[in-house]
Amino acid sequence: MSKPIVRFAPSPTGHIHIGNTRVALLNALFARREGGTFILRFDDTDLARSKQEYADSIEADLAWLGIPPNVVVRQSERFELYDDAAERLKGIGRLYPCYETPEELEFRRKRQLARGLPPIYDRAALKLTAEDRARLEAEGRRPHWRFRLDHRTVEWDDLVRGHAHVDCGSLSDPVLVREDGTYLYTLPSVVDDIALGITHVIRGEDHVTNTAVQIQIFEALGAKAPVFAHHSLLITASGEGLSKRLGHLSVKGLREAGLEPQAVASLAVLVGSAEAVRPMADLDELARLIDFSHISRAPAKFDEHELEQLNARLIHEMPYEAVRERLAALDADGGEAFWNAIRGNLSKVVEAAEWWVVVRGPIVPLITERAFVEQARNLLPPEPWDGRTWKAWTEAVKEATGVKGKALFLPLRMALTGLDHGPELGALLPLIGREKAWARLSGEAA
Ligand code: GLU
Repeated sequence: MSKPIVRFAPSPTGHIHIGNTRVALLNALFARREGGTFILRFDDTDLARSKQEYADSIEADLAWLGIPPNVVVRQSERFELYDDAAERLKGIGRLYPCYETPEELEFRRKRQLARGLPPIYDRAALKLTAEDRARLEAEGRRPHWRFRLDHRTVEWDDLVRGHAHVDCGSLSDPVLVREDGTYLYTLPSVVDDIALGITHVIRGEDHVTNTAVQIQIFEALGAKAPVFAHHSLLITASGEGLSKRLGHLSVKGLREAGLEPQAVASLAVLVGSAEAVRPMADLDELARLIDFSHISRAPAKFDEHELEQLNARLIHEMPYEAVRERLAALDADGGEAFWNAIRGNLSKVVEAAEWWVVVRGPIVPLITERAFVEQARNLLPPEPWDGRTWKAWTEAVKEATGVKGKALFLPLRMALTGLDHGPELGALLPLIGREKAWARLSGEAA
């Protein structure tokens, strides 16, 4: 296979959500695995609704996910290409002017339905003469432009869906250019796919019908259509589609909630595939698992709880080097021994800060069995301390007091950490150190 060129083509009209990351990752990781090019194309022809702020946030989201694009293009800078293509289609009679108002179209649609006919555009505008058009324009009407479809079945071999076909005889000729001269998504996308040499269009299955229309446009413009892969969409656990309005499922929201990009990526790529959903710390390894022919046709359920579990599992295995800078930024860089001691208790990396306070202090000890705790304090061994100190010390306390099990460990844990739960004390005790341990066991904040 020659090197693929793929694109992720969001409209910068809102923040992207976890469903969009599925499209972005499938494209980016496929390109990465095959040594290809990943293009970020902003579909910003709608100048009123597109915002730089959203474009910036999409780029930041991709960088956070670990898939920065190789190239960025903006449709708003490429209108000349679209105008040129539109003129060519007009020249060969595939793009024709229509003058119906929305009300007229709606009226006709209802009439067709009442007669039991499919409500598709009746191509009345194709019958207009030059004089008819001149008269309508003199009345102040501006045309919108429709693409004249070939009424045939369009077929393609979809990498996900296998042999796919859409009967274009049952579709309305799509409007490509609005009355005010602005473009709908359909034509600019094809023009760019041709101009940028896109080899694979990997996108959600909500675009299957568009694909049939777009294959006809590729051909009308004298180009060969790329390979298509339409993957299943993510839906919420209750079965709804993900919309841009679901703020907390936006990539920005997930990032701000302290989730790991690899957890988001692992779920977004593996859910609804033949592979078990599992945490993949390495994007190259995740890329190796992509197999379009094994993506399920059914919509894939996105479960926030599953994401949190993946996140925790990733952190439990995360090496110190991978978090060191973030720990420093949280003022919680207690070194490798500290990280290894606490990571198994974290569901988010930010929680490390709480455990660092427990180690470094000051904390208020929780003293329940004062006499027992003091007796234990007096048995604290001299430093140096290491991973065996806790065991040796608690053995000695057990021997001296006859107390064992939970009655032994819980009062000591509460005195030493101020909490009734937490990481193994065998690992924490040497980090706390004898001086602070002594003070805490004496009931002092330290
Ligand atoms: N802007 C389109 C969308 O977000 C792009 C679809 C495509 O990949 O062609 O749905």
